Amino acid sequence: MGPPGAGKGTQAQRLGKEFGMVHLSSGEIFREAKAVGSELGRKLARYMDAGELVPDEIVVEIMADAVGCVDGGLLLDGFPRTVVQAEVLDAQLSKMGKPLDAVVVMTADTDVIAARITGRRACPRCGRGYHVKFMLPVREGFCDDCDTVELIQRSDDSEALVRQRLEAYYVQTQPVVDYYRGRESLLKIEVDGNREADDVAGEVILALGSLARD
Ligand code: ADP
Ligand code: ADP
Ligand code: ZN
Repeated sequence: MGPPGAGKGTQAQRLGKEFGMVHLSSGEIFREAKAVGSELGRKLARYMDAGELVPDEIVVEIMADAVGCVDGGLLLDGFPRTVVQAEVLDAQLSKMGKPLDAVVVMTADTDVIAARITGRRACPRCGRGYHVKFMLPVREGFCDDCDTVELIQRSDDSEALVRQRLEAYYVQTQPVVDYYRGRESLLKIEVDGNREADDVAGEVILALGSLARD
């Protein structure tokens, strides 16, 4: 968990590989639905392009399907983002006999967030993330893994929407951190996301490693 631009996706891609978990990003799943141009996609776009959270009923329906399809280790990125979503996820995971093991909370300062969001780029084919200053591809504008595929900028990654998205995080998602805080069986890992991605990853991998050995 963490505000937009904290580095959730970047870290999740690394952790997924490190621990062999399936990385499920709600934002990625929604952007794919948007790209198809269906009725559902147009509905999602209305909220996402305004920097607002998608309503819980829609999120829960899509994510329950995605979560239900995963066999084995699961790494959630961007979901749950409200207490209602967290409650629905709890119910589903307990039905599946899959306990929630750990929550990683990443913090980042507002100026760091703004710089990261406005310079973010992504590969439309494989989803790999880049940054125009902080994480450059080998060839400017093109994905390292997909050679001829040009990197794109997300439609919601504008300076104008940063404040709106941050507010959604602090008002609607921060309570989810508190919701998990009191739970004894859950490993809580809080990391300072302002630092180099390698340093952040090292710290989280170390903390999660204790869990993997149990
Ligand atoms: P970021 O990486 O910037 O935090 P995401 O890619 O996770 O953004 O999400 C992009 C947008 O998709 C959000 O601004 C929101 O509109 C929508 N979204 C993604 N996940 C959720 C969720 N769990 N609940 C509500 N809206 C969501
Ligand atoms: P989130 O999923 O939390 O919205 P991302 O992982 O997509 O965040 O990161 C946002 C942008 O910042 C991307 O362009 C990414 O390449 C870059 N980035 C991520 N982590 C770091 C870091 N530790 N230092 C510098 N840039 C970073
Ligand atoms: Zn690619």
